[in-house]
Amino acid sequence: MTQTPATRPRQNLPCMLCGERFGPEDMARHTEPVECGPCITCVGKPECFECRLMYCVCDVHRYRG
Ligand SMILES: [Zn+2]
Ligand SMILES: [Zn+2]
Ligand SMILES: [Zn+2]
Repeated sequence: MTQTPATRPRQNLPCMLCGERFGPEDMARHTEPVECGPCITCVGKPECFECRLMYCVCDVHRYRG
C-alpha cells in the first residue's frame, strides 16, 4: 500500500487487471507479460495479476489471500 507518488503522471489510469492506479515506475509490473509456466490461466499476464485458480502453481501470480 504505497499511495504517495512524488511525481504524479498525467495518465494515472487504473490497471485493467488489478484495478490499482500506477505510475511509470510500476508500469512494468502492470503491463509487462510474465512467462510464468504451466498455469494456462495466468501465463502471459503481468506480475500484478492474481490467479484465482485453486491449483495454480505459479510463483508470480498465485493468490495469497
Ligand atoms: Zn495491475
Ligand atoms: Zn502465473
Ligand atoms: Zn495461475
